[in-house]
Amino acid sequence: MNSTKKYFVHESSYVDDNVKIGDGTKIWQFSHIQSGATIGENCSFGQNVNVSNNVKIGNGCKVQNNVSLYEGVELEDYVFCGPSMVFTNDLTPRAKYPKGSAGYKKTILHTGATVGANATVVCGHELGKWSMVAAGAVVTKNVKDHALMAGVPARQIGWVCECGEILGTNLICQKCGRAYVEDESGLVEK
Ligand SMILES: [Zn+2]
Repeated sequence: MNSTKKYFVHESSYVDDNVKIGDGTKIWQFSHIQSGATIGENCSFGQNVNVSNNVKIGNGCKVQNNVSLYEGVELEDYVFCGPSMVFTNDLTPRAKYPKGSAGYKKTILHTGATVGANATVVCGHELGKWSMVAAGAVVTKNVKDHALMAGVPARQIGWVCECGEILGTNLICQKCGRAYVEDESGLVEK
């Protein structure tokens, strides 16, 4: 830990100029944080993580090994990105006709969202608060708050509590007791 910094970057990783990193954040081996990126407090980035130019990341996020957060991706607070999950930022890429950053689609993961190992989030979509995407799923549309998504393409198969427990039809968590009601954006706590 560098004495002047309150965050940790492993010596094998690169942090470009003009990057903001919050206190308590840890960046592990072979990672690259690119110029313009903003990272909040108490985040953790595993091995081989790329945070591209101008990406915004909130507080308390965990990004597991082998994840690239491309320009256009935004994580709010407490987002979990499982190992080797994939983001994109161009729906119709061509090597010969690059669009540049103005052509990138935004992808927003709202507070508490989880993406399982090896899942793909196709760009231009939003994952609702505390939603959960199963391992290997491919998200091709917006995901509601607290929705549990699985499959290719991902479909909603249930609801998940903020604590991570899968909810039954009464929408009351067996583990933590939180109770929910459905509205147009997904579930909201009672
Ligand atoms: Zn719960």
